[in-house]
Amino acid sequence: MLKKIRNNIVSITIRRILALLSPTEKRRGLRMVFATMLGALLDVAGLAFMVPVMLVATDPEYIQKSNAMRWVQETSGFTDYPSFMMFLGATLLVVFLIKNSIALLIHYSHSNFSFSVATSVAHRQFIKYYQKGFQFFKSTNSAEIINNIINVPTLFASGVLISAINFVAETMIMVFIITGIAIIDTALFCAVMGVLIPSGIVIYNSSKNKLYHLGQEQIKLTRTNLSRLNQSIFGYVDVKLTGQEQHFLNTYIESQRKLNENQKIRYLISLIPTRGLEVIAILGIVVIFAYTFYFSSDQNQLFGFIALFAAAFFRVLPSMNRLLNALMGMKNHSITLNILEDGGLPNELEKFDVTPIPFHDNIEFRDISFSYNKAEIPAVRNLSFTVLKGEKIGIIGESGSGKTTLVNLLLRFLEEEKGGIYIDGVKLTKENTPGWRAIVGYVQQRVYLMDATIRENVAFGEKPEKIDSKRLEWAMKQAKLWDFVSTLKETMYTRIGENGQQLSGGQQQRVGIARALYWNSEVLIFDEATSSLDNETETAITESIEGIASGQTIFVIAHRITTLKHCDRILEIKHGQLVGEWQYADLIQNIL
Ligand code: ADP
Ligand code: MG
Repeated sequence: MLKKIRNNIVSITIRRILALLSPTEKRRGLRMVFATMLGALLDVAGLAFMVPVMLVATDPEYIQKSNAMRWVQETSGFTDYPSFMMFLGATLLVVFLIKNSIALLIHYSHSNFSFSVATSVAHRQFIKYYQKGFQFFKSTNSAEIINNIINVPTLFASGVLISAINFVAETMIMVFIITGIAIIDTALFCAVMGVLIPSGIVIYNSSKNKLYHLGQEQIKLTRTNLSRLNQSIFGYVDVKLTGQEQHFLNTYIESQRKLNENQKIRYLISLIPTRGLEVIAILGIVVIFAYTFYFSSDQNQLFGFIALFAAAFFRVLPSMNRLLNALMGMKNHSITLNILEDGGLPNELEKFDVTPIPFHDNIEFRDISFSYNKAEIPAVRNLSFTVLKGEKIGIIGESGSGKTTLVNLLLRFLEEEKGGIYIDGVKLTKENTPGWRAIVGYVQQRVYLMDATIRENVAFGEKPEKIDSKRLEWAMKQAKLWDFVSTLKETMYTRIGENGQQLSGGQQQRVGIARALYWNSEVLIFDEATSSLDNETETAITESIEGIASGQTIFVIAHRITTLKHCDRILEIKHGQLVGEWQYADLIQNIL
C-alpha cells in the first residue's frame, strides 16, 4: 500500500517537481500550499453558510427546529419569514463576495508563482544548453533546442506545476468538504463517496494513457513542425530553384495538421470530466431517491438530502472536475519533466575568469590528436609545431584535411584527446580558456550576423552605450568596411537583416574581420575567411592584415594561396597530419 502511494503518478510528479525547483521556489511553493489551504477553508465556510440558508428556503419550519437558526432570527430582528430570507440572502452574498475575492487573490499568486517558475526554468534551460558545448550544438537539431528552451518551460509551469498545485488544493478542499459531510450526515457521506470515487476512477482511467501519449507526441510534433518550417524559410532559394514549393508546403502542413489534431483530441478529452461529472451528479440524486424511498424510515428527509447533496455538489463537482483535470495535466505534460531533468537544471552560468592570459613568447601545439565521436580515423593526428608571437602562419590543405578542426582545438571548442596546446609553456585548460579566448579573434567562413545594425554587429555583444566609436571606426577602416558603410544612408546604423542578408558575402566577411579587430585580439584566426571575397578585396584585406599586424599573431587558413603572401611560414596539413612547411615563394614555385 505504502509502496503504491509512493509510486503513483501524483507523488512521483510532485517529487520530480521538487527536485527541479530552487530552494526559494520550493519555499514559495509551500506558501502556495498554505494559501490554498486558506482557500479550501473559505470554500468550506461558504458551503457551511449555504446549507442552512438552503434548508430555511426549502422548509420555513426549519427555523423553529434549529436552535442556531432561531437564535440568528431573534438576534437579527427579522421576525417575518420573507425579510429573514432576504437577510440571509444578503449575508450569503457578502460572505461569497469576500470569499471569492480572496480566492481570486490566491489564484493570482498561483499564476504569479507558476509563471515566474516558467521564466526561471527557461533561464536555466538556456544555461544548460549553453554548457552542453560546441559538439552538442553542432549535432543537435536547432528546432529541438529552441523548442526545449521556449516551449517546454511554459508547458511545465502551466501544465505540470499548476496541475500539481491544483491537485493538492483540490484534494484538500475535497477532504474538508467530505469530512464536513461525514460529520453532518453519515448516510449522505456514503452516498456521495459511493458515487464520486468510482466515477472519478472511471473518468480518469478512460483518458490517462491517451493523454500521456498525446503529450509526448505534442512535444515531438512541435519540434518537427519548427524544423520543417525552418527548412522552407532558410532554404527559400533552393526551394524555388528546385521547384519543390508544393513538396515543402505539404511536409510542413502535414506536421501542422497532426499538431492541430493532437490539440483537438486533448481539448475533447479535457471536456470529459465536466460533462461526465454532471451526469454523475444526477446519478447521485437518483441514488438519494432510492435511498430515501427504499431504505430510510423518514421519507421527509428527502428535501433536506437533496438540498445537502446539491450544496455539496455545488462545491464538490467543480472541485472534482479540477482534480481530474489536474491529474490529466500532470499526465499530459509529464514528458516536460523528462526534458528538464535530462542534464539537470544549472542555476547560474559558470563564472569565468575572463582576465586575458599572458602571452609573450609562443603558442605550442604539442603532439595533438583528436577524433570526432564516431570517426575511425582521427581528424587531427600527432600534430606538433610552435608559433612565435607575432608570426603570421598560413595553413593549407585539401578540404577535409582537418584545418577547421585544428582551429576549433585552438579556440577550445574541441578538446584534444592527446597532447596539449601551450601558451608560453602554460597548457590551455578549461579554467584558462575564457582568458585565452579574450585575446583571440576568429573570422569564420560564414560570419554569424545578427539582425541588427552594422555597428552592433561589429561591436558584437557590447551594450550600445558602451561601444567605443573611435575603436569601431579604426576596426572598420582596417577591415576595408568603412568606405562601403559611408555610402549607406544610415551609415553604420543600417540594419543588415537576419543573417546579414542585405550584405554581400564579401561585406559579411569584412564585418567579421572588423569584429575581430574591434575586440582587440592579439591572436587572429581566419578560416577561409577570404573565400568569398573578390580579388581586389582579398588583396586589400591581406594587406590590411599585414598593416595592423603590430605584434598580432595571425593564423590564416587560405582558400587561395595568394592570400598567404604575407605569411612568415605556411604549414601543409594532410589527413590531420603536418606534412610540410613552406615559404610563400617556394610554394608558388612548387605549384607552378
Ligand atoms: P577542413 O577544414 O580542412 O576542410 P575539417 O577540419 O572541417 O576539414 O574536417 C576534418 C575531418 O573531420 C573531415 O573528414 C570531416 O568530415 C570530419 N568532421 C568535421 N566536423 C565533424 C563533426 N562535427 N563530426 C564528425 N566529423 C567531422
Ligand atoms: Mg574548414
